[in-house]
Amino acid sequence: MTSTIDKNGAAESRVFEADVAKLLQMMVHSVYSDKDVFLRELISNAADACERLRYEAISDPALLADETRPQISITIDAERRQLTVEDNGIGMGRDDLVDALGTIARSGTKAFIEQAQAAESGDGVSLIGQFGVGFYSAFMVADQVDVVSRRAGAKEAWRWSSDGKGTFTVTPVDESEAPARGTRVTLHLTEDATGYTDRAKLEQMIKEQSGHVPVPIALIEKPG
Ligand code: ADP
Ligand code: MG
Repeated sequence: MTSTIDKNGAAESRVFEADVAKLLQMMVHSVYSDKDVFLRELISNAADACERLRYEAISDPALLADETRPQISITIDAERRQLTVEDNGIGMGRDDLVDALGTIARSGTKAFIEQAQAAESGDGVSLIGQFGVGFYSAFMVADQVDVVSRRAGAKEAWRWSSDGKGTFTVTPVDESEAPARGTRVTLHLTEDATGYTDRAKLEQMIKEQSGHVPVPIALIEKPG
């Protein structure tokens, strides 16, 4: 693996693991019509993170601090053409970000690539969730994705950032820029995906795709 560590030994630029890079390329160049599934995948990760926190807090209740209720917030910033999915779940430390979002190909990645390439265009996308490659579907609608996360109980917070084109960076972020606990995923939407700043469309997608999610989902519109 190639990596560059800056003077502080903190900020890093890294190359995606080969299968991850291939998968990302498929996402970026995706011609699938049903790109809506990206939201389902991000909400599902947010809900999983809340569930993992709940589980870990059974033996370590201090992890919950004063924020005991799980919550997912989706924020629309139409002016900046951004969409943010935030949770107050378990969060990710630096190594979690590097491993989970960059270097460790999910076990299903290779199988996914093979099957999706063989499938008719419409079928490929339905394989995304099934093979556990959900996060990367964000690159079907975004040309840059920023993930700011703070692991439950940790003081430090980190930003993972990528344009999906082969490399990602992991940088420490100021405490004031990070959620108190959990993960904020910011999608810089492509021009084609501007429609995902429409409140009614998102409401409909959440209802249809994520109606069963056991964590409350708030939809917030940033005033323009
Ligand atoms: P899967 O959810 O099937 O594991 P994904 O590609 O959706 O695959 O996510 C990859 C991994 O990234 C997850 O397993 C998890 O470790 C981490 N992850 C993604 N989103 C979050 C989040 N919101 N909070 C904590 N961890 C996350
Ligand atoms: Mg997932």
